[in-house]
Amino acid sequence: MLRHSCGYELEILCRNCGKPIEYRSRQGLICPNCGRVVTLVCPGCGTKW
Ligand SMILES: [Zn+2]
Ligand SMILES: [Zn+2]
Repeated sequence: MLRHSCGYELEILCRNCGKPIEYRSRQGLICPNCGRVVTLVCPGCGTKW
């Protein structure tokens, strides 16, 4: 489960391999399994995750 800085929690699964997406400070949202980078706007506060 990912937690945004605004407190919104969301489970994101990779569209390629189905593994949970992780947040890394340098890369942002990324799949630790296949390396797919995900761009997402937080549904809670409307800013970039
Ligand atoms: Zn993946
Ligand atoms: Zn947010």
